[in-house]
Amino acid sequence: MDIDYYNTLGVAKTASADEIKKAYRKLAMKYHPDRNPDDKEAEEKFKAASEAYEVLRDLEKRKIYDRYGAEGLRNSGYSGPGNFDDIFSSFGDIFGDLFGFGGGAQRRGSHGPIPGNDLRYDMQISFMDAVHGVEKEVEITKRETCWTCEGSGIRPGCKNKTCSTCQGSGQITRSQGFFSVRTPCPECQGQGEIITDPCADCNGSGLVNKNKKVSLKIPAGVDTGARMRLRGEGEGGRKGGHSGDLYVVIHVEAHNFFQREGDLIYCELPLSMTQVALGCTIDVPTIHGEKNLKIPKGTQPGHTLRIKGEGVPSLRGQGKGDMVVEVKVIIPTKMTKRQEELLQEFADLESGEEEHHSEGFFKKLFSGHLGS
Ligand SMILES: [Zn+2]
Ligand SMILES: [Zn+2]
Repeated sequence: MDIDYYNTLGVAKTASADEIKKAYRKLAMKYHPDRNPDDKEAEEKFKAASEAYEVLRDLEKRKIYDRYGAEGLRNSGYSGPGNFDDIFSSFGDIFGDLFGFGGGAQRRGSHGPIPGNDLRYDMQISFMDAVHGVEKEVEITKRETCWTCEGSGIRPGCKNKTCSTCQGSGQITRSQGFFSVRTPCPECQGQGEIITDPCADCNGSGLVNKNKKVSLKIPAGVDTGARMRLRGEGEGGRKGGHSGDLYVVIHVEAHNFFQREGDLIYCELPLSMTQVALGCTIDVPTIHGEKNLKIPKGTQPGHTLRIKGEGVPSLRGQGKGDMVVEVKVIIPTKMTKRQEELLQEFADLESGEEEHHSEGFFKKLFSGHLGS
């Protein structure tokens, strides 16, 4: 079944451009996500209405749609249905167009829609959360569009007074010798009009302070400096301008045992001298749990062993890095009498002499050098 855009907007097939605009405006206001936080149904309705409007406002698209339907529209190269991932970026244009803020086309620019600022949120997460991914909810305070005045700053039902200094053009002309220079009107700050009845909820600014909870899905494998962009979650727009974006910048805390470089995990593994000399099998902690690792006989201090697939998952969701284990050898500082005896016995066997090992070694060394 093809999508019925006329039905979505609640207008007749013969509706005029003006009727379509009015119908969309009503729905967009009702279902705007800022007005209906956490309401999936409203968001869907908002998207559907925006999609319908995007098609029906355009004479060319509407003609194709009327004749061939939404499917035909898609085949003709227009984005058509189901391609509305970027709804909020077109939102601003639609709103500016809808409300006609600032009046005629010749005055556009100096006082058209004002988009909201982008915001930055710095977020600290643990080493393990970065490695495995995490869902977090953060509360941010930001300035959002005032829905009492729809971001215009004007008390509902009131009108702005045209600026008498610039006659509404937003610019004044100054003569400088032979030249005349146009500068923004100081009386109205280039707006062309003066708010005589400011909206009581936002004091005429068009924006109000709000706390908003934003849920974030942080993917496995992020590292410090990673930026996530949440479209439309920044500061609210004014006069029909779209909202800015929210940039979340990730900072990852250090870990006591693991270190990380890209998708490689590094750690130092302390082993006793007998463990490395004789070889052994031990359980090594990895970021994914414990892993059995075979230490070969005669492993040297500083030697590295690689465990495949025990590193960080790739951000793109394909495979995992490795873990690199560096062997540290711990020399005992306290031994029992028996341990010392055995070690001495070992040392004597090694040197092949009955006398003290180090003594013999140095005697040999010096006689070699000074002998002749
Ligand atoms: Zn307001
Ligand atoms: Zn002015």
